[in-house]
Amino acid sequence: MDCIFCKIIAGEIPSNKIYEDELVYAFHDIDPKAPVHFLVIPKEHIRSVLEINGTNSAVVAHIYEVIAKLVKELDVKDGYRVVTNVGEDGGQTVDHMHFHVLAKRNLAWPPG
Ligand code: AMP
Ligand code: ZN
Repeated sequence: MDCIFCKIIAGEIPSNKIYEDELVYAFHDIDPKAPVHFLVIPKEHIRSVLEINGTNSAVVAHIYEVIAKLVKELDVKDGYRVVTNVGEDGGQTVDHMHFHVLAKRNLAWPPG
């Protein structure tokens, strides 16, 4: 499958890995939009949160558990944002579900 994030998980494309377990992989974004900007992705190829259902939703809970752990380790627990872009109109450019975690700058609301 021609998926850049599946290739990162497989080690075929290098990444700046932060964390990995049997279900998920976390790595720094190659084009950071904040001083701290990392991505958490499921190892299973799920296209976006639009594909979440009763069979695969447990991985989303696990991703949020991993984020809670990583923001403590990276010392940004006092303020961060989790973003998942969905579909073309939602700004999604990689069709493998991912959760952006952004921190260490003032994050405007509403987002653009
Ligand atoms: P999105 O636009 O929400 O689909 O987010 C995709 C994100 O993946 C963007 O923030 C990109 O900078 C990031 N990205 C694309 N290729 C890589 C890569 N090889 N390593 C790390 N991050 C990447
Ligand atoms: Zn994939």
